[in-house]
Amino acid sequence: MTKFIFITGGVVSSLGKGIIGASLGKLLRSKGFTVAIQKFDPYINVDPGTMSPFQHGEVFVTDDGAETDLDLGHYERFIDANFSQLSNVTSGSVYQTVIAKERRGDYLGATVQTIPHITNEIKSRIIKAQKHFDTDFHIIEIGGTIGDIEGLPFIEAIRQFKTEVGFGNAINIHCTLLPYLPTSGELKTKPSQHSVNVLRSYGLQPEILVCRTSKPIPKTEKEKLALFCSVSKDAVIECRDMKSIYEVPLALDEQNFAEVVLHRLQTQDKKSNLKSWEQLVDKIRNPKHIIKIGIAGKYTKLSDAYISVVESLKHAGFKDESKIDIKWINSEECTDYDKCKELMKDLHGLVVPGGFGVRGIEGKLNAIRYARENNLPFLGICLGMQCAVIEYARNVVGLKDANSKEFDEGATYPVIDLMTEQKSVKGYGGTMRLGAYDCIIKKGTVANKAYGETKISERHRHRYEVNNEYLEKIQDKGLVFSGMSPDGMLAEMVELPENDWFVAAQFHPEFKSRPERPHPLFQGLIDAALNKVKQESKTGK
Ligand code: GLN
Repeated sequence: MTKFIFITGGVVSSLGKGIIGASLGKLLRSKGFTVAIQKFDPYINVDPGTMSPFQHGEVFVTDDGAETDLDLGHYERFIDANFSQLSNVTSGSVYQTVIAKERRGDYLGATVQTIPHITNEIKSRIIKAQKHFDTDFHIIEIGGTIGDIEGLPFIEAIRQFKTEVGFGNAINIHCTLLPYLPTSGELKTKPSQHSVNVLRSYGLQPEILVCRTSKPIPKTEKEKLALFCSVSKDAVIECRDMKSIYEVPLALDEQNFAEVVLHRLQTQDKKSNLKSWEQLVDKIRNPKHIIKIGIAGKYTKLSDAYISVVESLKHAGFKDESKIDIKWINSEECTDYDKCKELMKDLHGLVVPGGFGVRGIEGKLNAIRYARENNLPFLGICLGMQCAVIEYARNVVGLKDANSKEFDEGATYPVIDLMTEQKSVKGYGGTMRLGAYDCIIKKGTVANKAYGETKISERHRHRYEVNNEYLEKIQDKGLVFSGMSPDGMLAEMVELPENDWFVAAQFHPEFKSRPERPHPLFQGLIDAALNKVKQESKTGK
């Protein structure tokens, strides 16, 4: 029988509930239990696909093409599982379903209300996902902070659900912050007490508290929290700031976090095996090399906008016992080629990630040109591949002013064009080419060597694509189209064999990298970048 774990947050937002939930998932998996997750987001957007990365960070994409909250990425990476459309629930999608039912006449005669119609729909989403995943544990993280008006229907649904499944089958973990006051040298528990009071006023008593803190929590303060929040002392868990998020599961394990959860859920404990994770953390803590990787994009002020890319780079770094030092390059600052060269001269590798819109494009093209001409290891992702093709078309093939129709509708050489099936698409929500599609890799290519396979499946999120009318012309001048869709109609990967590592993909490899299983394309980039580091230290550069 599946047991349910609800995770709420109090005091402030951005507490890292996702990392805490993912860490719990990791600990339960390490004991041999199966774990699924759902993220409930109280905003009205049906999914985050139409939100600016500045607002919401990265949009994570699942195999089945859901555009989801970035926390789902943490869950997939920590738990090493693939989740789905069912894992992402927003107020918008819940209301959309209820309103569609109302229009269809499903509730004929009734006044459609938050309770019971919206709350019933929320509960049915839990049941549906539970039936689909059918795991030992089902973790549900509720976005936002307790007390938010828009989160109330979710909190009420949890209250009902907990009562319905009965004691010992569902628990609530409440995550809070203990602020540190330097003047008095104290960690303060009052905001946590208040947030538990708010939770209680909605009829929810947390079974476990996880407290984010910058300092160790003294025993006296833990006791105070236990007393005022009505949780037992062993259920006040400290979650201190860590250098790496991958250390969090181990820090929580030291306090028997999973055992406390299992006890509350009346589940027999099992022996855990965290050996390989401990080895991973050991590598993270003791890197032998530092590799400087530039990420050239337009959302560089908010690193969350590229979180899966950053994590994927780190994963490949772990394998090479290297720390990845990221240099954020605002592509708009690269519009001037001399400035671009200056910004890039200390790099060991470059990533041009996905993106939308014309802003910063000329700078990205300059950055790619620099990488190509200077044999700087390069990985282009989605828009990054489209830019690599444009750059090559302009500067090598000689198609002056080659461009994507996304940036110039009337381009003389539209080497990137809207995909045929996109031409009739109206509206922006969930209408891109989304999710996993197969790609056939040409034998003997760099991509083939990296994957060790000729048929792969990767996740997509795009509208534009290489224009096949130009494919031959570009290929003739040396850019290899190393991956194509199975019908041969869509270019999925390009590479330049003469460079140490110059590979770009129309898909998003960053969604499938795992800390203990780095993605081959990121590994290829980091291996090549590490070679550069080693050469530099030999030549004393
Ligand atoms: N804007 C480009 C497209 O729609 C690239 C999208 C992306 O990088 N995710 O095809």
